[in-house]
Amino acid sequence: MGEGRIQGVAILGATGSIGRSTLDVISRHSDKYRVVALTAHSQIELLAEQCGQFHPDFAVVTEADGAEQLERLLRDIAPETTVLSGVEGMEQIASAPAVDQVMAAIVGAAGLRPTLAAVRAGKRILLANKESLVMTGHLFMEEVVANGAQLLPIDSEHNAIFQCLPQHGVLGKFPAGVEKILLTGSGGPFRKRAVETLGTVTPDEAVAHPNWSMGRKISVDSATMMNKGLEFIEACWLFGAAPEQIEVVIHPQSIIHSMVQYSDGSVLAQMGNPDMRTPIAHALSWPERIDSGVGNLDLFEVAKLDFEQPDFGRYPCLRLSIDAMVHGGSATTVLNGANEVAVAAFLNGEIDYMEIAEVIEQTMSEVAVEEVTDLDLVFSKDEEARAVATALIKGRG
Ligand code: NAD
Ligand code: MG
Repeated sequence: MGEGRIQGVAILGATGSIGRSTLDVISRHSDKYRVVALTAHSQIELLAEQCGQFHPDFAVVTEADGAEQLERLLRDIAPETTVLSGVEGMEQIASAPAVDQVMAAIVGAAGLRPTLAAVRAGKRILLANKESLVMTGHLFMEEVVANGAQLLPIDSEHNAIFQCLPQHGVLGKFPAGVEKILLTGSGGPFRKRAVETLGTVTPDEAVAHPNWSMGRKISVDSATMMNKGLEFIEACWLFGAAPEQIEVVIHPQSIIHSMVQYSDGSVLAQMGNPDMRTPIAHALSWPERIDSGVGNLDLFEVAKLDFEQPDFGRYPCLRLSIDAMVHGGSATTVLNGANEVAVAAFLNGEIDYMEIAEVIEQTMSEVAVEEVTDLDLVFSKDEEARAVATALIKGRG
């Protein structure tokens, strides 16, 4: 990567929470980064506004109708932007020659194909879309190595761990001298709520995270701690850790974003205000540092840092995730697919909050675990998990 040269950036999922934060960081450094491409699913007007501000070469929308609408909206404000559509369009921009870095910030399995296209084109990938790594595991990491791509974690915990690990470590290999990764999580909005009352939780209560502002799917995942479960799996692949080398620690203040414990007794933590612009700026500029727009941490205001052990009775999704990782093979693909279906059904009012874990557990017991040998198997297991979970939900209704 040319030192000092302006970096071309593509943002997959530009209209989302991570996408918008990425544009905010980039807008502070127009001397270093140029937006080459933006993609969105349904928020066409917001995407048009972003194009009017950043003038990318390409804008991609999932559906052809949306692409037509975007073209009309851009006629006056960004006529130089070429509008594309569909997964093919996203794959095309993720691998475009003018792109150096790809922010992978589409939510869910929908992010897998475009993210893989960026990996295969040997780009620098800023990985927010944890689901694509959870679904594919070793296949994803092998593609990164085979194509000389660079992978930088955006998830705040993994970005923190990356910062606390020895420098020049190789992603995917657990470094010598490290004893354990301490993966922190806030415990979400229901950490103190009586477990018997969790069945009546509403979607609006579940997405109201105490510390972080995020998209709806990951907010529900944070309440159930499925998010921490997915992150547990993500950390195993990213850092080459065995399940017993990762410990989940509840830390309600979200000031420490994770820690690394060394064999000499040292524990390194990365701290900061809970604002995703910090890991985004870190990954964009690594190994340098740039301003992210995030204010300095005021330790006197924070005053106190608490730690608790997670209770699997309150967070069954966390146990299911760890079990899936221990089981290995396609178990994590099925976990992820079932979770996406169950969370969508919960947000839609079709099942109650506690049924999310039940649907996942039942789906996992019905879909056979197989070794993940290629991507076709990943896609077919994902599909099977979604079909089984959907049928289970219908059966309940
Ligand atoms: P979000 O819901 O706010 O945004 C999702 C983005 O994906 C939008 O731009 C949307 O247009 C796009 N999208 C949705 N469905 C799509 C589809 N079918 N095809 C193509 N594009 C589609 O989500 P978010 O909170 O920004 O999270 C994005 C990803 O980053 C998730 O994988 C999440 O787990 C991860 N992440 C988010 C945060 C956070 O603070 N928000 C933190 C860590 C990791
Ligand atoms: Mg996270």
